[in-house]
Amino acid sequence: MSTTFSAVPGPVTGFAISCVHGPTDHLFESYPAVQEFLQAELDAHGGTGHLAGCGNDFCAAMRMSIEALEADPSPRMRVSNSNGGALASLLGYPADGYSVSGSDTAEVFRDRVLAAQSTNSDSGYTADRLVELLDIAEFCAARGRDVQWA
Ligand SMILES: [Zn+2]
Repeated sequence: MSTTFSAVPGPVTGFAISCVHGPTDHLFESYPAVQEFLQAELDAHGGTGHLAGCGNDFCAAMRMSIEALEADPSPRMRVSNSNGGALASLLGYPADGYSVSGSDTAEVFRDRVLAAQSTNSDSGYTADRLVELLDIAEFCAARGRDVQWA
């Protein structure tokens, strides 16, 4: 399990068929259109892994997923749940065990990251993650979008 910090989703421009390595070249304008295409591929081939363009055997054996493509994609930081919980706690947000999720305005989140940076004495992992979180907060603040983590 992992925790991803990012902006809340913005306007969507389309949908792509994706494997774990990211979107393929199969792009659609609407969610129903991509669902219909995937169902037809599933019916015809017994699976959808053949649509993966990455050449990975694991992906070829899996079903493809649908990914919404945003007009203005957010920077993302993905960490383990334990690290996500530790970072949320460091920022003063509740984090209980394996359930780490929340959201806040970009301004409050940025202030909390800056406060954590000023008191954090670790120059390694935590300091690097705080820099990434500040980038996400700045991205969100510039666009009036909240920060979310889950
Ligand atoms: Zn793949």
